[in-house]
Amino acid sequence: MTGSRAQAMLLVEPRSIASTSFPLVDLEVGGWLAVEATGLTGVDVQLWQGTSRRTQYPLIPGHEIVGRIAAAADDSIGFPIGTRVIVESSIRCGACRRCMNRLHSCILRNPVNAYGRLPSTEYPALWGGLAEYVYIDPGARLHAVSDDIPAVVATFAHPLAAGFTWAVELPDLKPGDNVLVMGPGPRGLSSLLAAKSAGAGWVGVTGLSHDTDRLELAKRLGADMVADAEAEDVASAVANSLGARPDIVVDVTSDDPEALHMSLDLVRAGGTVVLASTKGTNAVNQLFTDIITLKELKILGAFGAGSAGYHWATRQLDVDTRLDEMVSHEFPLAEADRAIQATAGLLGREELISVAVTF
Ligand SMILES: [Zn+2]
Repeated sequence: MTGSRAQAMLLVEPRSIASTSFPLVDLEVGGWLAVEATGLTGVDVQLWQGTSRRTQYPLIPGHEIVGRIAAAADDSIGFPIGTRVIVESSIRCGACRRCMNRLHSCILRNPVNAYGRLPSTEYPALWGGLAEYVYIDPGARLHAVSDDIPAVVATFAHPLAAGFTWAVELPDLKPGDNVLVMGPGPRGLSSLLAAKSAGAGWVGVTGLSHDTDRLELAKRLGADMVADAEAEDVASAVANSLGARPDIVVDVTSDDPEALHMSLDLVRAGGTVVLASTKGTNAVNQLFTDIITLKELKILGAFGAGSAGYHWATRQLDVDTRLDEMVSHEFPLAEADRAIQATAGLLGREELISVAVTF
């Protein structure tokens, strides 16, 4: 591949995407992945809007990557050339303090060692899924996925993995536990699927008025209750449907500081709140922490998906045909700008479930 270049969409600064290319350099370690599809998320929107803290531009966005192994410089990759894989968003060096503590936020590189977050000034530049090729770091974790599954469908393994990590693994969900998911985006819907699959007794999903289609889908996917937090009182809706307070509340809202107040209010005493939503530059105001103390709550910060989640998600691709309908919008690489705007809901929310760029 010496001498080849990869087309890439570079986020030069907030709201400024430029089409460019980077050389596929000869590697000493790792390899090159030919990207087939990349899902977009609220993180990409925050990077595009400039509301994500600790960001270094320029960077190539996109961390929900699916592709084929195109070149390997050493044996760190562990799969033959041509294998279709899902690449975990977080890269682990295995040696830093964060990695030693089994966290998902490796700090070998700044600002965080993860795809779609590293600046293109970091060698060898191709760290984001909005490019024809992505560097496979030796610390990347790959999961083989069947050729029978369209690449665009396989991108949904990423939110699905997060749903498992956040709604099942971190809060240690037990069969019969009741779960309220705040936010019906791809990760919220995935939290619903993962919780149900793990035997949750009741799962409710809340959203906003513009989330009508996503809340309808949540119902079809088995939610016991859906509520529009702008049109109805969520506490009453939960009380009427469940007759109790949920054991676990997962906050997967988008940039919504109010959701934390509601999570703390709604969860049962002794329950668990999983805070998986980043609030960007929005502060949570008027937070009186006595509610955490007096209710003896567990508050868990959740960043990214774990390998157990990816393992589960990859298997679900083979067995759950409902996943075929989860990516509602596809764009070519040249329209990456529009793809991010669609993810942000700026092109309309009708029938918007999730967005991917395909190659
Ligand atoms: Zn590390």
